[in-house]
Amino acid sequence: MRIRGQSFYRAIIVHAELNWKSSEYFRMRILRRGIVQKIALTTCLLLLVITLCMLNWERDVDKSVKIKIIERSIRSPMNQGECRRPHLALDNPDIMKFYKQVAKINCGDGLDWIMCEKSICFVRPEISASHDDITCSYTDIIRKSDYKVRFGRTLKLKEPYVLQKSDFVKVVCHASDGQSWFGMAFGIRDTVQRPLAANFAPNLAVMPPEAVAQAHQQLQLQDVPTAAFYNVLMLGFDSLSRNAFLRKLPRTYSYLKQLGTVVLQGYNIVGDGTPQALVPLLTGYTELELPETRKRMSNSGSVDSYPMIWQDFARLGYMTSFNEDLPNVGTFTYRMNGFEEQPVDHYLRTYYVQAQNMLSDSPPNCVGHQPDHMVMLEYTKNFMMKYRDSPRFVFSFHGGLSHDSINLIGAADDDVHDWLVALKEKNLLDDTILIVMADHGNRFAEVRATLQGKQEERLPFFSFTFPESFKKRFPKEYNNFVANEQSLSTPFDIHATLKHIIKLQTASAEELAAESTYDSGTLDTKTETNKASIHISKLASGRAISLFEPIPSNRSCADAYIEPHWCACLNWLPLQLNDTKYMGIIIKVADSIITSINAATESRREFCAQLTLKKVNWALRLQPHKELLQFKTNSDKDGFLADMSGQTVVHEEMYQLQIVTQPGEALYEASVAYNLHTFSATTKLTDISRVNKYGDQAKCIYERDPELRKFCYCRD
Ligand SMILES: [Zn+2]
Repeated sequence: MRIRGQSFYRAIIVHAELNWKSSEYFRMRILRRGIVQKIALTTCLLLLVITLCMLNWERDVDKSVKIKIIERSIRSPMNQGECRRPHLALDNPDIMKFYKQVAKINCGDGLDWIMCEKSICFVRPEISASHDDITCSYTDIIRKSDYKVRFGRTLKLKEPYVLQKSDFVKVVCHASDGQSWFGMAFGIRDTVQRPLAANFAPNLAVMPPEAVAQAHQQLQLQDVPTAAFYNVLMLGFDSLSRNAFLRKLPRTYSYLKQLGTVVLQGYNIVGDGTPQALVPLLTGYTELELPETRKRMSNSGSVDSYPMIWQDFARLGYMTSFNEDLPNVGTFTYRMNGFEEQPVDHYLRTYYVQAQNMLSDSPPNCVGHQPDHMVMLEYTKNFMMKYRDSPRFVFSFHGGLSHDSINLIGAADDDVHDWLVALKEKNLLDDTILIVMADHGNRFAEVRATLQGKQEERLPFFSFTFPESFKKRFPKEYNNFVANEQSLSTPFDIHATLKHIIKLQTASAEELAAESTYDSGTLDTKTETNKASIHISKLASGRAISLFEPIPSNRSCADAYIEPHWCACLNWLPLQLNDTKYMGIIIKVADSIITSINAATESRREFCAQLTLKKVNWALRLQPHKELLQFKTNSDKDGFLADMSGQTVVHEEMYQLQIVTQPGEALYEASVAYNLHTFSATTKLTDISRVNKYGDQAKCIYERDPELRKFCYCRD
């Protein structure tokens, strides 16, 4: 039994061993198979990662390759022609169908309890009138980085609070009736280091040590300015074309016109998106030319390396401010690393970062009970008021209302209008160059799908308003600026213009006289250390022209460093008048000009003769760049390169004609739209210009209807 038993056990053990061995064998096999699979999988993944990295490396590392691709497209022959601007009707039904009226921004009933004027924060009189014995705890909101804030000490007070450590404060208030409130307030703190003497010394607070040393050196120089400087006040909107501004902000626009504003009709973007507009405008360079600042690139640095124009102003003793809402998609913080040091004296970003943490349940487009845009306008106005005795540079750029909606910005028209009126009435515009602008036009897919939408996107609103004293002090420069109203211009030119403002004010009279022409190169003095390492191509070096200098009338998009798919200028093709392909169209187009003129004089037919066509002198066919029609989207993450696989449907063509009419041999030039579906031509009266003198021909209508002078040939 025992033996049997032993052998039985042995048998069991052997069996078990066998079992173990076989199960071990299978387990090993499975394990081995698993390992092989894992190794194979890991290798595949590794290869994939390496390939992707290589691809990314290919794509990302060589900025100079990207610049070469861009410059090749800029140089293309079709991009070389003199710019003819498209005629973009304000009331084009293709576009107007996207527009509607909107209500004012509603931030709920009630008021924020605390407000600040300059550096003093206090309980609003309306609130203290309705609540007794209010005590508030104030805690400074201090910038830690572009993404984080920290809190200062908390002070419990019944009296007003003076901002010292920060422009921004969070507040909790209790009244003896049991009511309470919490929220945020903003003002302009008292304690920012001021220049040694107004208009005289550089603002050392924002400058790196080596720049401080150089600024001290500069102070020893003879050409230290003594005259008062002009402030620069820039108010910008995201995504607002020139036409969209006129449609959505009509009160603001008409007030600007009343102030004598010059709206740049040929201002054209040079790239896709906000940084592509603001980087050249603020630095004079493209993002590709500047040091690497993109978040996703290893070894990328902060935007502190950019030579921002406000540094140039700060060097002269200007107080500076830069303000953007929408902290999540900030121009320098969305793709880029943002600023390490606070870039300016007063910086509203910190407020919006904390508002997002603390008051994210506010109604849409509101911070507490205040509309977002009012926060920015008030802060900007406060800044302008606070430093009346110093020159000021401020750039406030609003995106909240205009970035994601084509219509919402209309809700701010009254507020922006009233803000401008208040600035004017407080004499804050007397010594200020006011720049109201946008980065690019609307970029919504449906709008962009139309030809006019694409063209409007490329033509943002851009205006300068000069104070009377500037016009008197710099008449030649001002007249040049006005003459450039219709010229092709770009953000690079705006940068050169801002530099020129500095140059005009710092150059002594002799220097100005000696330098009959402006040369942007001479402005890059050795004091600007951070520019030393930035190299640009030969093509790029001639791209910027100050708007205080004449812009050549034959300037092309290639001259202005605009790629053909961003260029809103039209290509034009001179037509042979006897070309059978176009003869029919030319006649229809000429007829439509005559019809339009005759319709205008119809009601005065007893005085003005009906005109007929005598002959066509010349005809041009205008077309958008084929690259503009083909541009679909960007082909890389940063919006540097273009995907050209799109196709915009064109519904009409533009023609320009010069015709002679009879009786009277009047010479007219006109732009005419030719509809490709109905094969009909339409001419707007405003698009017809008379190019020879009407003289006595229109004598009979001078008094009765002066508007008709250029169209009327008096019957007797
Ligand atoms: Zn933008």
